[in-house]
Amino acid sequence: ISMFWHPVLNLSNFYNQLITNIAGAERIFEIMDTKADITDDSDVMNLPPIKGEVEFKKVSFEYDENSKVLENVSFCVKTGETIALVGPTGAGKSTIVNLISRFYDIQKGIITVDGYDVKKISIESLRNQMGIMTQDNFLFSGSVKDNIRYGKLDATEEEVIKAAKAVNAHEFIMEMENGYDTILKERGAGLSVGQKQLLAFARTMISEPKILILDEATSSIDTHTELLVQEGIETLLKGRTSFVIAHRLSTIQNADRIFVIDNGGIMEQGSEKELLEQKGVYYELYMAQFANAV
Ligand code: ADP
Repeated sequence: ISMFWHPVLNLSNFYNQLITNIAGAERIFEIMDTKADITDDSDVMNLPPIKGEVEFKKVSFEYDENSKVLENVSFCVKTGETIALVGPTGAGKSTIVNLISRFYDIQKGIITVDGYDVKKISIESLRNQMGIMTQDNFLFSGSVKDNIRYGKLDATEEEVIKAAKAVNAHEFIMEMENGYDTILKERGAGLSVGQKQLLAFARTMISEPKILILDEATSSIDTHTELLVQEGIETLLKGRTSFVIAHRLSTIQNADRIFVIDNGGIMEQGSEKELLEQKGVYYELYMAQFANAV
């Protein structure tokens, strides 16, 4: 009897797993799907080591015909600048960052990285110089060390520890049963949201990307970890061109520029001080969301 039921139980487990991971699963399928869609042109070159300047020139984009997501969007982000993307759900924030890593091709305009048209360089050589962190921090069943090393497969133990220390992950790793050799459960089960994030930060840190894309998690984290995460983010952003889909007020305030995205474009841009003085869309957003929190 038990043998008969076994697959059924497995299946229902699988189903539960599927439900809990549905948000993450969607993203993974999304990436897999688009990977199949977008392929290198026949005459691409490899992107040489970059500094990390990103420019959009008159970019228009739609997923499906007749449903424009971006319309004539232009901006230039200099090496090392941090951009916070804010705006309502569905405004096009994720779309913008997905286009930089070329998960889709645009219909009009041009996107360049250090002056290279992203369509004319190999996708691998582009993404190798980028760090992409979504809300689903993919941790696999393996040691903590290997999970961090996934960002740079030939990293030494010292490099792993250095990266973990830089983003505040070292402390909690050392409190685990076997430290860096502790074996994680599938998808980091048993770790808190904040701890999973810190591990993902360490993984990204070790890969030293020139361009960083961070979709900041919205889940609430305990106060202690929240401070560690905030500091970790600051360290990660330092010295790289970064695009953050920002939910934390601290991240928004620390950004060099804020892009307010809505209606297919950048409605406002500037430092937080400039945008508050302007008393436009960001000011309204700030008053509605953050004013009570500070
Ligand atoms: P945000 O990140 O600001 O919430 P998105 O960039 O995810 O916004 O979405 C912008 C618009 O594009 C929305 O109308 C959304 O429904 C649509 N969209 C996003 N991803 C896809 C997709 N893979 N296929 C079709 N439409 C999409």
